[in-house]
Amino acid sequence: MAIHKVSDLDIEEMLISTYGSHDFDHPVSKHVMPDSEIPADHAYSLVKDMLMLDGNARLNLATFVSTWMEPQAKQLMTDTFEKNMIDKDEYPQTAEIEMRCVSMLAHLWRCENAEETIGCSTIGSSEACMLGGMALKWKWRERRRKLNKPTDKPNLVMGINVQICWEKFCRYWDIEMRQVPMAPGRYILNAEEAIKLCDENTIGVVGIMGSTFTGEYEPIKEINDALEILNKKTGWEIPIHVDAASGGFVTPFLQSKLEWDFRLKWVKSINASGHKYGLVYPGVGWIVWRDKGELPEELIFWVNYLGGKMPTFALNFSRPGSQVVAQYYNFLRLGKEGYHRIQLVSQTVARNLAAEIAKLGPFELLSDGSDIPVFCFKLKKAENYSVFDLSERLRYSGWQVPAYTFPENLTNVSVMRIVVREGFSMELANLLIKDIKKALAHFATLPKSKKTATKKDKDHGGFHH
Ligand SMILES: *Cc1c(COP(=O)(O)O)cnc(C)c1O
Repeated sequence: MAIHKVSDLDIEEMLISTYGSHDFDHPVSKHVMPDSEIPADHAYSLVKDMLMLDGNARLNLATFVSTWMEPQAKQLMTDTFEKNMIDKDEYPQTAEIEMRCVSMLAHLWRCENAEETIGCSTIGSSEACMLGGMALKWKWRERRRKLNKPTDKPNLVMGINVQICWEKFCRYWDIEMRQVPMAPGRYILNAEEAIKLCDENTIGVVGIMGSTFTGEYEPIKEINDALEILNKKTGWEIPIHVDAASGGFVTPFLQSKLEWDFRLKWVKSINASGHKYGLVYPGVGWIVWRDKGELPEELIFWVNYLGGKMPTFALNFSRPGSQVVAQYYNFLRLGKEGYHRIQLVSQTVARNLAAEIAKLGPFELLSDGSDIPVFCFKLKKAENYSVFDLSERLRYSGWQVPAYTFPENLTNVSVMRIVVREGFSMELANLLIKDIKKALAHFATLPKSKKTATKKDKDHGGFHH
């Protein structure tokens, strides 16, 4: 094995262990696969050291994704890393667990006849949304063909606040994207605007439970009722897909009276992210159709399963089974009571924190955490600092609080958003308030001249999570 002395090497291109062990004096190349092996302990510490410099998940108020699970759940995941979700025949118990999760979700989302539902796990909501959107497209085409009408101009109606996956869906599947813009004071889709964009070529309307911009729920019931009238009048059968990436695991526990789910006639499919408020590590998502008829047969592939056949519908093939197993663990471990308790704590922290931020003076809340435990706020008036400056300043104490600009029509609105997840306690929230106050005190020492948006500010804009 060719051992190089550190002094001979291009130090930029080499990894040199910081703490691994003092006997490890063997640099390893970074960008070209190393020629030789190193001991497992050394490889472990090289990688571990490198990851140490990632952000601290507990201080990350940007992500919706779970950053903590119980040790028992971790253990189960470790036990099941080798199980491939797609091998239904080899791992029938893992497949059974997936089906039980789908059934629990169908009940949770108020499917009257849960035996008639069909659904599956995915790698996340993005894949689930693609599947939901494809079913909408295929069903629309089926209806059009029956009527001998053209099928070359499908469109999908949604708010401009949709997550990027819907823009991807429309581009990848060649569908015209019809977005309702925001208006002052309205940051989500409403029924009136959605209906205006519908026509005979509309494959569906996407409603969001938990907008990524503000955390608000879209009025699914109003959209449903408006579609009922429109569909009756025109003979169209425009359905709704609900993107409940976050809300799917919040609404049933915190706002169970709210009708947004399969209680509504035109809601044909719902997706959610198991790795957001489903409280599982990434990546797992879910999609459920209200009945088998909503998922066209042509989209289903049949795989061997215990000598029988099992339907699968996915974009992906191989995928670890461990996240699905962990989802089932959470369902059994927490039950409705546990999910209720955890989401209620997150929501209480979010609402308190929002109220505290409103009290500081310069900020105005655009949402207050009463839908999903997410809220955002902006500056009431121009100050000598922007929300981007505040975001940067909070970074000094390790907080990751994103700032971004709203889309077209409201590009003059810049906000900060806070996502409260399990593990973010009131104690941490109080520390954040302290650091925001410190930042404001710092800005007060700066010249009063109004700062205009810098290029850097703009680069932050339009980000989607
Ligand atoms: C997060 C999110 C998505 C994408 O979900 P992933 O699980 O990250 O793929 C889609 N839609 C909404 C509303 C989201 O919040």
